[in-house]
Amino acid sequence: MKGDILIIGGGIGGLSAAIALRQAGFGVRVVERASDMHASVHGVGIIQPVNALRALDAIGCAEACMESGYSTRAWGKVLDAEGNHVRDIPGATIPGEDLPPMNGVTRPRLHEILTAKAREVGASITYGTTFTEIIEEGDKVRVPLSDGSEAVADIVVGADGAYSKVRRLVIGDEPQPTYNGQSAFRVNIPRQVPGEQEIDRIILQHGPNGMAGFVPIGPELAYMFFNSSWPEGTRLPQAEMADILREKLEGFGGLTGAVRDHHIDDPDGIVFRPIDWMIAPPPWHKGRVVLLGDAVHAFLPHLGQGAAQAIEDGVVLTDCLAGAETPEDAFVAYTERRFERCRIVIQCCVDIGEWEKGRLPGFDVVKATQTVIETMTAPI
Ligand SMILES: Cc1cc2nc3c(=O)[nH]c(=O)nc-3n(C[C@H](O)[C@H](O)[C@H](O)COP(=O)(O)OP(=O)(O)OC[C@H]3O[C@@H](n4cnc5c(N)ncnc54)[C@H](O)[C@@H]3O)c2cc1C
Repeated sequence: MKGDILIIGGGIGGLSAAIALRQAGFGVRVVERASDMHASVHGVGIIQPVNALRALDAIGCAEACMESGYSTRAWGKVLDAEGNHVRDIPGATIPGEDLPPMNGVTRPRLHEILTAKAREVGASITYGTTFTEIIEEGDKVRVPLSDGSEAVADIVVGADGAYSKVRRLVIGDEPQPTYNGQSAFRVNIPRQVPGEQEIDRIILQHGPNGMAGFVPIGPELAYMFFNSSWPEGTRLPQAEMADILREKLEGFGGLTGAVRDHHIDDPDGIVFRPIDWMIAPPPWHKGRVVLLGDAVHAFLPHLGQGAAQAIEDGVVLTDCLAGAETPEDAFVAYTERRFERCRIVIQCCVDIGEWEKGRLPGFDVVKATQTVIETMTAPI
């Protein structure tokens, strides 16, 4: 197939799809609700497992991510609450690909890289704009936009995130993201905390109130996350964020203890977000409108796979469209290649979340993580 594609949502998934589709010869326009490239970027850093890097490599963006970020030689390691080494998580590489097990990068930098590449390959991006309706007429889709203009495309891609409005039109009101009972703090810290082990891979430290983790995202920079249990709907006052996080980190020694004591002081630098998740059963399309990324599978963060899977969606959707006679054939093939892969990751994340909350005693979190990482190295 060839034709013009309108992508609603210019996040990681929408931009990746835009690049892949342009490179395959489709006309591509992205409409993004946020006012500029950075206005929709929440959070601090992104884990890029080897399968994310493979998909980014396919759209010409892996090298820039690795140049700006921090590539590791192994996935990670686990410490006890006092900071003693417990186990390693080796991670995986892909035979024939010169890619590390993991790269970490800041979110703003990833958006800059994807946006620059999308523009370079000729995708147009309109900020501060959304759709008001999606109307299929014969072989075309008419999409009135919030700026009063109208886009006409052969295919519309809904890449508008976990609370997708396009999803409502394609699938209906269910499913919606559900809260897993945990919320995550995230804060940038130095990659080398004085007197502590270097953050040169993911470091996990399970303590009395939850799971602390450290991710390198640049030569000098890392971020700490802390997953802990909170009642649904909890919102914390931003001004008290540092005090609350320090209190939650009581009982930790080692790296987490040092970060608590010396690097948690600016409340405005701390992001606190509930962990919501969802996976929609197929079909992921209706007529000429198809969904990708968090709009159909909002991941829990425990395996760092949400963005990875959104990027893979864009690459696979492009492959299916390029090789199909009709949108319907392409969308069916796309969903067949994507659903089970996403389901496996989400199920493992749900299990890790339950284990972190103390509800899955005996669960081997290292084995489960390593198994999913290895499974994700299979071709997409
Ligand atoms: C705190 C946090 C940390 C995370 N850490 C990681 C990690 O380390 N590794 C990882 O792989 N994943 C991580 N994830 C998951 C990852 O961020 C998402 O899976 C990924 O961003 C999904 O990309 P997306 O493009 O589908 O959705 P989004 O990134 O949510 O992008 C959707 C875009 O659509 C726009 N939009 C929404 N509605 C409309 C509309 N009506 N019209 C036009 N535009 C619209 C939004 O402004 C946004 O730009 C994390 C998520 C969170 C919340």
